[in-house]
Amino acid sequence: MRLRSYLLSLLLAANCLSAQAEGLRFALVKTAETETLDAFTVEGGNWTEKVKANHVAVLIQHHAATLLFDTGLGRQVDSQFGNEMPWWDKPLMQYGAVTPARDQLDRDGIRVDRILLSHVHWDHASALADFPEVPVWAPYEEIEFSEIATPPALLPSQFAHGVNWRPFTFLPVPFMGFEESLDLFGDRSLVLVPLSGHTPGSLGLFLTLADGRRFFFTGDASWRLEGFTGPKEKFWVSRKLVDNDREATRAQLQKVHDLLQKETALIVVPAHDAKVQDQLGYYPQWVQ
Ligand SMILES: [Zn+2]
Repeated sequence: MRLRSYLLSLLLAANCLSAQAEGLRFALVKTAETETLDAFTVEGGNWTEKVKANHVAVLIQHHAATLLFDTGLGRQVDSQFGNEMPWWDKPLMQYGAVTPARDQLDRDGIRVDRILLSHVHWDHASALADFPEVPVWAPYEEIEFSEIATPPALLPSQFAHGVNWRPFTFLPVPFMGFEESLDLFGDRSLVLVPLSGHTPGSLGLFLTLADGRRFFFTGDASWRLEGFTGPKEKFWVSRKLVDNDREATRAQLQKVHDLLQKETALIVVPAHDAKVQDQLGYYPQWVQ
């Protein structure tokens, strides 16, 4: 009898989760794409093969709020990049034609309630100024990093409008192999976890649809899915340029690698991996 009521409560909890995640959907808003050498993106990569790299914002519609995870390249990226990126870094950081997320969303009357940043690097924070009215959630360490970091990691003009920061700390609640997490709406459909290393307050986002499909947006811990399946670091020149803490970044790659061994259906989405993202499609196409 006790077992039956336990099973019933488990069933109710599962129903409750899917009911709360009902209607949850996301779309990758592609703001730019570029081409680079495979070898620049991942350790042991090919020197003759080219790969596509995207700059996306992830648009997420939950019944409680509409969110943007990262912002992609914004309306002012040419002047931000032109004026503040050191000339010697420019060739490595090139991007293609830009279609800002704000332009794409305004066209359809979509209003964003909250922005979450995987980290504050220039190519993720570029469009903050296009959403000056929207609060931006980030861990304390990352907000502090945004105040002290310098180009090429960060372009100060991107924060000059006065970001409406909402700092937070993770809670000691384990989730998917991470010791700490933050469940955004209390229904486990959108859960942030720390991924510090690439930057001090880098984070990842687990998104679970009502049917159980689970996605893990990993920011720049690795630029390529191969970085986790390997695990493999970035190309050494690239990682020296962009990874704040090599050992911590390696530890995160290993952690996600181990998680993938157990959760074989988990879909890991690195922020710039066009090969992974092409399979999900781009806004106005939704994953739901
Ligand atoms: Zn980055």
